[in-house]
Amino acid sequence: MKTEPISKPYDWLDRNLASIHKANWYRSTQTITSKAGTIATIDGREMLIFASNNYLGLAGDRRLIEAAISATQIYGTGATGSRLVTGHLALHDQLEQAIADLKTTEAALVFSSGYLANLGAISAIVGARDLILGDAYNHSCLKKGGLLSGAQAIDYLHLDIADLAAKLQEHRAKYRRCLITTDSVFSMDGDLAPLRAIMGLADRYDCMVLVDEAHGTGVFGDRGGGLTNALGIEQELIQVGTLSKALGSLGGYVAGSAKLIDYLRNRAATWIYTTALSPADTAAAIAAINLVKTEPERRQQLWQNVEFLKQGLQDLGIQAIACDSPIIAIEFGDIELTMQIAQHLRHNGIFAPAIRPPTVPTARIRLTLMATHTTSQIQTLLQSLANV
Ligand SMILES: *Cc1c(COP(=O)(O)O)cnc(C)c1O
Repeated sequence: MKTEPISKPYDWLDRNLASIHKANWYRSTQTITSKAGTIATIDGREMLIFASNNYLGLAGDRRLIEAAISATQIYGTGATGSRLVTGHLALHDQLEQAIADLKTTEAALVFSSGYLANLGAISAIVGARDLILGDAYNHSCLKKGGLLSGAQAIDYLHLDIADLAAKLQEHRAKYRRCLITTDSVFSMDGDLAPLRAIMGLADRYDCMVLVDEAHGTGVFGDRGGGLTNALGIEQELIQVGTLSKALGSLGGYVAGSAKLIDYLRNRAATWIYTTALSPADTAAAIAAINLVKTEPERRQQLWQNVEFLKQGLQDLGIQAIACDSPIIAIEFGDIELTMQIAQHLRHNGIFAPAIRPPTVPTARIRLTLMATHTTSQIQTLLQSLANV
């Protein structure tokens, strides 16, 4: 029998790439050849970085580097297996205790990334008979976690407590469990979730709450415990976060009650069926948490930098979406104009990217500050913005 040849099954890739280009949505990588810090060599050129998540400057810190080297010498480079088989090291216990202490929770569990922590936690705690109400601007992994769980996922308007209340009133009773999900510090706009009000509604409507502290941990709170800690929230909740931002390493975590963590060890597929965090990453994260707790001056410097940039932008008459965190996003206009401004900054040796749809609804320049930025580096940024 003669079969029809399958003609060019990958041709659609060309067509799709062409439409991505046409919408000005095309993205590509830039190559960095230097150590993490406020200055980086990008594609061979020295640039001042206002785009890093390395808020406390820990990713290049000697003590994290030494911890990673020493753990590698003791344990080797790979964890060699999943946590339930050969991958569970004494270091993982130490890190999980350090996270639980930082977060003032009973327990914590580390995942290979923050993305996987959210996918694993959400899909383990809700299912087909359940409801998820999520902030419309939640990070991709909260949304994908919802899809993976099979629960009915409904977005409420960004930061809008009245809308959340209305949606709870309308839908809650039809479902078994309900999970409210939100970033604590929104990754693209840098604004803050109304966590107290959310906790109040969760009490009233019998909901669990999952807060993603990816950009809050190390940055907010006296000891760097995150926004939840800074607000003194004491009700039970599920905290998720990353080791890769202020903590300067790689990996993610869930922190909460001992029974939640025990349950996740038995039900979170992205934890069970994947290799444990590497010794180097684990040890670097332990060292970072120690510094987050013992060197509050880093956090103070970071907040002074936020204040300095905020004042400078005000003096220039530039309105940011929010100045409540080290993430400061500015909308200048359409995609093309925003790209031109990013280009202009880049021309002046400043790396502050344009963030575009589909990541965000409207194009903006997203600036992030680090504790290790100097006043003169921030002044250089402000001068460049003044010239736009
Ligand atoms: C970066 C980020 C994540 C993902 O963390 P990784 O460890 O990089 O996978 C999750 N949630 C939010 C809000 C983030 O900004």
